[in-house]
Amino acid sequence: MLYRTEGIVIRSTDYGEGNKIITLLTPTFGKQGIVVRGAKKLKSRYGVLAQLFTYGDYAYYRTGTLGSLNSGEVLESFQTLRQGLEGPAYAAYASELTDRAINDDEAAAYLFHQLKACQTALAEGKDPQIVVGAYVMKVFAAAGYAPMLDECASCGRTDESYRFSSIAGGALCRLCRPKDPAALELPGGVWKLLRIFAGMDLRRLGSIAVGDTSKKQLQLALRKWMDTHLNINLKSRGFLDQLEKYGELMGHRPLEQRSIESARKPDAGIGGADDEGTV
Ligand SMILES: [Zn+2]
Repeated sequence: MLYRTEGIVIRSTDYGEGNKIITLLTPTFGKQGIVVRGAKKLKSRYGVLAQLFTYGDYAYYRTGTLGSLNSGEVLESFQTLRQGLEGPAYAAYASELTDRAINDDEAAAYLFHQLKACQTALAEGKDPQIVVGAYVMKVFAAAGYAPMLDECASCGRTDESYRFSSIAGGALCRLCRPKDPAALELPGGVWKLLRIFAGMDLRRLGSIAVGDTSKKQLQLALRKWMDTHLNINLKSRGFLDQLEKYGELMGHRPLEQRSIESARKPDAGIGGADDEGTV
């Protein structure tokens, strides 16, 4: 049967002589594995269609689990995401997480648009730690593991001073704190970011300037959550860690300088993220 769909390449591996197998995230069919014959040949017009991060229109025959590319058209190659170190590192992390966390036939229209918006934001040079942090929250939700942030995940109480507990399922109130002594104490600004990320559509990602300390705490919370609930070992994570560490060692803080201009929702209420004076 011939299928035709838009898709973003979230995985691309060599296959036999000159061929590639790609995994597409599509809005209608979830993840699709497709063989692209001759993709590695120099003059192949399908070369870019088989490259990681490419967004395109794909037509393929599929009878079993793997499809076979019939024709296709590149809609956006996201070439800038393949240049330098930072773009590829963050974009590869988003791709790999999507590939590993989402089941094959899970219809994923919303996530597809979020990934496309994530890649667009990275290509535009928006703060990659914020962009990917927000996207990671989308993957958690799509995989069925969104943290509870507005009431205690253990008893349902609303509280002023939650801790963040991966084991308990998100916010943990003062009374329930003994249930997870390792729960993280996060500043108000980081809680706000988590709530914004949970509710935000990345297509409307706005102007969020966040200090390095907050970004680190945010990343720690998201990773603890990922390790507890998804339990996947991402190859791209090691490279990302090295890159971030290298940036710190060099005293070079490219990430801090950026701000995201935008059309964020006026009710997003992120003022608090600035409270710590880390902006
Ligand atoms: Zn509680």
